[in-house]
Amino acid sequence: MSIFRNLDANCPGCDTPVTFELVYSVAADRRPDLREAILDGSFQRKACPTCGTQFRAEPEFSYMDISLGLYIGVWPVSMRAKWREQAERTQKVFDDMLGPGASREAQEIGKRLQARAVFGWAALVEKILARQAGIDDRTLEIAKAMVMRNLDTMPVPGAQEFRLLRLEDEDPVFGWVRTSDGVASNAVRVPRKLIGEIEATPEKWEPLRERIGDGLVVDLQREMLAD
Ligand SMILES: [Zn+2]
Repeated sequence: MSIFRNLDANCPGCDTPVTFELVYSVAADRRPDLREAILDGSFQRKACPTCGTQFRAEPEFSYMDISLGLYIGVWPVSMRAKWREQAERTQKVFDDMLGPGASREAQEIGKRLQARAVFGWAALVEKILARQAGIDDRTLEIAKAMVMRNLDTMPVPGAQEFRLLRLEDEDPVFGWVRTSDGVASNAVRVPRKLIGEIEATPEKWEPLRERIGDGLVVDLQREMLAD
């Protein structure tokens, strides 16, 4: 079930209180429209009725997608510094709902889901896109590390994050997403064969893969973005 609650947030342009209908949990199998709205950036975004400024409520919900095999604890960007604690909270909710604390039927569903915790919209979109494209998220993070190493410019950590933006044909397109408003720039299209090459030489990447895949926050930038 997808469950909602109301929250008043003040418009950043004129301070008018605007009521958002926020979600506690998204069940994407029953509400594929919500998955699409997350991917196209319209989910929990509104225009202020007074001045027209578009703004967006930070995400804080659980995202369950059985068809993609994903369970994600989605947290606001402001909680990044506490990524370890938030990952533990996500793990506990998962265990109670779909793991050892749940009914046998729920556990059967849980076994087919990969549990993750993310911070902010761009990180959530990235996980869904990678899964839709059949790219393991640890492999994706290794690919990001390789691509970032070859970039000329490296923005100030914390203000921007390097994320998968979309797929063009089969090729992943990465870019720098400004954390404050989600605007992406400097997109880099990477040949899909890079993903295949990483997976063809697992021994070469084992230490990095283990470090990245340790826990629910599978994100190369988890330390960098925490400050
Ligand atoms: Zn306004």
